[in-house]
Amino acid sequence: MNAAEISQQLHGHRSGAGYVARCPAHDDKNPSLSLKDEDGKILVHCHAGCEQGAVVEALKARGLWPESEAPSDRRIVAEYNYTDEAGDSLYQVVRLEPKRFLQRFPDRAGGWIWKKHPRQVLYRLSEIRYAPIVFVVEGEKDVETLRSHGFVATTAAGECKAAWLPTFTESLRGREVILLPDRDGLGGSGWRELHARSLAMSSGYLCWIWKTARTLPIGSRADTPSRN
Ligand SMILES: [Zn+2]
Repeated sequence: MNAAEISQQLHGHRSGAGYVARCPAHDDKNPSLSLKDEDGKILVHCHAGCEQGAVVEALKARGLWPESEAPSDRRIVAEYNYTDEAGDSLYQVVRLEPKRFLQRFPDRAGGWIWKKHPRQVLYRLSEIRYAPIVFVVEGEKDVETLRSHGFVATTAAGECKAAWLPTFTESLRGREVILLPDRDGLGGSGWRELHARSLAMSSGYLCWIWKTARTLPIGSRADTPSRN
């Protein structure tokens, strides 16, 4: 596999020392992906702003990237569906192994666009809508663990590293919010922001139990224990 072959598969064309084609990582109307070979490597760059990793993942998903790594590399191990208030799908957070998280949402041709959806929502939004008490944890896996015990829980894609959007706070307005951050994740800007905004909520009630987590039976590890 080289730049010319990838370009051909994407119906691209030659341009200068390389090729241009439609970027597989976004809904590309005008070819905005540059490809070229350099020192035995394929270089890709989306001029519309897709991250290089997203472009490579999109190419891999179409079988258009050299399999230089072990077959198990970048195996999808979990897919988490994010929906709107009504429960209709917006996008997925995909967990890959070795550990990495990517967002994707359907294109109109039965494939995936590997980038952040323009509308970001809290995980399990349709469930937290009418719940009086909502746990906010770091990561979809912890949400699912709490759900399996009958609790209503949520998280934001990107965990504590992503920005906490005002719309997230709005989704939690009036709920009792119980924060259950990972001990090693505490201090992420997203969580600090959540803390401040939640306290400012007119009718919101916030409980921050991280400090006592050590004495609670909730896990000896950073993650919420899975049910086995
Ligand atoms: Zn792109």
